[in-house]
Amino acid sequence: MRSAYEVAIIGSGFGGSIPAMRLARAQKAAGKPVSVCVLEKGKRYNLGEFPRDLDRPKDWFWRQEGEHGWRGLIDFRTFNNISVGCASGVGGTSLIYLDVQIDAFDSDFEIVTDGARRWPASIPDWKAELAQYYHRMRQMMHPSPMPEPNLKARAMQAAAAAVGAAERFKMLDLAIYWGRKASEPGVLNPDPYGWGGPPQYGCSNCGECFIGCNTHSKNTLDLSYLWFAERMGAEVYSQHQVLSIAPEDGGYRVAFKDMRWGFEGSLLARRVIVAGGCLGSTELLLRAKHGYRRGGRQYPPTLPRLSDKVGQYFSGNGDFGAVGFKTGRVINPMDGPTITSTIEYGDCRDKHGLPLGFIVEDGGFPDILRENLQSLPGGLSTGRRLLRRLKDLLSVTGHRQLAEGIFDQLDLEASRDALPFLVMGQDAADGDMTLDGHGDLQVTWHESASMPLWREMERTLRGLAQTPAPGLGGNLMLNPTWSAQKQLVTLHPLGGCPMGDDPAHGVVDANGEVFHYPNLFVTDGSAIPTAIGRNPSKTIGALAERVSHKIAERGI
Ligand SMILES: Cc1cc2nc3c(=O)[nH]c(=O)nc-3n(C[C@H](O)[C@H](O)[C@H](O)COP(=O)(O)OP(=O)(O)OC[C@H]3O[C@@H](n4cnc5c(N)ncnc54)[C@H](O)[C@@H]3O)c2cc1C
Ligand code: SF4
Repeated sequence: MRSAYEVAIIGSGFGGSIPAMRLARAQKAAGKPVSVCVLEKGKRYNLGEFPRDLDRPKDWFWRQEGEHGWRGLIDFRTFNNISVGCASGVGGTSLIYLDVQIDAFDSDFEIVTDGARRWPASIPDWKAELAQYYHRMRQMMHPSPMPEPNLKARAMQAAAAAVGAAERFKMLDLAIYWGRKASEPGVLNPDPYGWGGPPQYGCSNCGECFIGCNTHSKNTLDLSYLWFAERMGAEVYSQHQVLSIAPEDGGYRVAFKDMRWGFEGSLLARRVIVAGGCLGSTELLLRAKHGYRRGGRQYPPTLPRLSDKVGQYFSGNGDFGAVGFKTGRVINPMDGPTITSTIEYGDCRDKHGLPLGFIVEDGGFPDILRENLQSLPGGLSTGRRLLRRLKDLLSVTGHRQLAEGIFDQLDLEASRDALPFLVMGQDAADGDMTLDGHGDLQVTWHESASMPLWREMERTLRGLAQTPAPGLGGNLMLNPTWSAQKQLVTLHPLGGCPMGDDPAHGVVDANGEVFHYPNLFVTDGSAIPTAIGRNPSKTIGALAERVSHKIAERGI
């Protein structure tokens, strides 16, 4: 690692990988040496390296600051009334995301708070503005629908038709390599897209997308943007956690900890891109604005002029989970990619005509569960023991209540005819993120303003699950932690460093540049100022594409 770079990027998810490639490419095109480095706190996962051994919980989970060697793939944190899931690793949460690539709702850009539009008004038409950047994302992520709808996609279609919403059903674009001519599951192709990319196997429909695809069939960021960034000369340092950012010498000093060897170091960069995800970036900027105390040491503020909006507009993207069960129809939710299709209610409005859109997708759980059930003596009773182990695993990592809520309700016998629903929508995005006495992030979610959305979702889900044949004709179980304790789980956290027109309304401007701190940018989900209401990664990526384009235009 050098002592100084032109560009330093914190985090390697959508917000980090995209500028890494685009800015390395811009430097090359300008005939300059590539001077881009990416610091990522998680590990790198090569082909076949995602954890599968349930007896090694530290391989699976990440704990704050990687404490006591918990430096695994899944960063799952439980706060007061919401739990948040994301990933830690080279490629960010794309390593465990469910591959859906979809644009934002048009109505997202209309959302208004206290008379002001949340998305910066300096861009009059965000939909038109983002079109070219969505296109770039498509070219890089290669999304396409599952070639042949599976049983759960057909069940979704039947459910939609039965409630008179056939036209709302569609197969989703998934960033998955399906095999040559979409018909070679499990076959290795040395360069599937013919662009000098990595070898990938055709998707084998194993359903393990959310625990890391061990056949590299998912088009994750380490296999797309980052792959090319590194080949152009960008340097990616895994297991390097950034601790602070402070202005120095017309640029910024970035201090980090090498998690493998435990030593601390720093580098100087003329431009810094903060892309630690909603939680990671907001925690860094809250610490930089307010300073904090930890382990008996006081850390002073390093960026005290940051907007007071740091930590505001947190959204769980309206995430809501439910299961339609006892449908009497073979659905096999363990087969195929975790999500395949959708029933869309993007046109839904509240009684004042304001956006209340949402989307219902099919879910699933990994085939690994079924393999364990089948291979172990004792069949389903062994399966229950396995579930107990999973529950213990979650409990050990500090999520006992959640573990009990979920696993106590799972009924393995019923799983073949069950259809999990993954729902997201335009919640009020009015959560707050703050620091506790140790400088650790806390999230407070206010459910009251989003209650009309939850009610509409619940009503719709009941219809989809319970409408008799040719519909599903089953029962509906809502997320048990919501029913019992109004505790939500989100996999799509957004906000915390929102875009806005000025420092009174946002932390960064429409080009992702931090107010009062030139050449400091935020490009990840934390910069999104509202819920997206659909899966957000394509919109996060399009914004990161746009910011990269604007930086390159200014000269790099
Ligand atoms: C199970 C699951 C399924 C999902 N499915 C979908 C889907 O199908 N479609 C979709 O659109 N979205 C999906 N999402 C959401 C999507 O993955 C995220 O919205 C997206 O990845 C966020 O991108 P990001 O760049 O903001 O952050 P991330 O992708 O989370 O990347 C942030 C990176 O920064 C690193 N980091 C954080 N702090 C530091 C630090 N201080 N120093 C160094 N590194 C740091 C983290 O380790 C992480 O690797 C899913 C999420 C989950 C959890
Ligand atoms: S279903 Fe299995 S093989 Fe296909 S993308 Fe998901 S994890 Fe990879």
